[in-house]
Amino acid sequence: MHVRVLGSAAGGGFPQWNCGCPNCRGVRAGAIRATPRTQECVALSADGEHWFLLNASPEIRAQIESFAPLHPRAPRHSPIAAIVLTNGDLDHCLGLLSLRESQPLVVYATETVRRGIAERNVFYRTLQRFEGQVTWRRLECGRETELLLDGGRSSGLSLAAVPAPGKPPVHLEGLEGKVAEENVGLSIREGASGHALAYFSSCGKVTADVRRAVEQAECVFFDGTFWSATELIDLELGQKRAEDMAHLPIGGAGGSLAALADLRASRRVFIHVNNTNPILREDSVEGEAVRAAGWQVAADGMEIVL
Ligand SMILES: [Zn+2]
Ligand SMILES: [Zn+2]
Repeated sequence: MHVRVLGSAAGGGFPQWNCGCPNCRGVRAGAIRATPRTQECVALSADGEHWFLLNASPEIRAQIESFAPLHPRAPRHSPIAAIVLTNGDLDHCLGLLSLRESQPLVVYATETVRRGIAERNVFYRTLQRFEGQVTWRRLECGRETELLLDGGRSSGLSLAAVPAPGKPPVHLEGLEGKVAEENVGLSIREGASGHALAYFSSCGKVTADVRRAVEQAECVFFDGTFWSATELIDLELGQKRAEDMAHLPIGGAGGSLAALADLRASRRVFIHVNNTNPILREDSVEGEAVRAAGWQVAADGMEIVL
């Protein structure tokens, strides 16, 4: 399984256009040891020829251009076989609207996520310009789904959606109560080799389901949005705690570093890193704590082969 990180930042990217936090100021000025990052998107392939994207970030056009295997091989063609959405947050799905150039799309999502995107907003009509422009394939928690290529051929990859504590996207807050399957993680498996990847880029808590998925994987991507619960409050950038946004912080007694200390996975990567997170600074004590625990901080262009 080939894994390529196209974007590794949380919503807003790093630096974020309207953010003057120490990290964003520092990276713009070249005054800190840190690298800019685009918003989260990961490409996967079993054969190196057909690719699946995990989430579709607002920066998808530049992300596709940044990686030659995703470039067309004919006048009208794309090696992107499908897109898998883990939730309906705009930083995860807005890129779909940039893939509208008369190209049929296949999107894997839970019914809750599909409904939130396809039935609730007028912009989505741009993906309904011709019959069959978008084919939705349903993800149901706990059910193994094969990722298919054209004509129903097998891609060599299958996945199971795993319920992960999350929240509705901000633009749908208050429209309906608590809904199931609004945010999922993914257990992705390569049939031939049995290699397994766990992908939880947004996760509010390590539940029994989440734990089972990350324990079985040899490569784990996990929610790296915030180092501490009060990161935005401490920087006077917001009132919300990490938990209010359904992101488990990395540090602290109840954080993901402590909760996931005993994983067998040989590759453990924090992704969806918010621009305020001190792990973005390569010489920070928080970054050192992450590395000492055997974790890496995802960077755009990172590749993993399982
Ligand atoms: Zn996000
Ligand atoms: Zn910032």
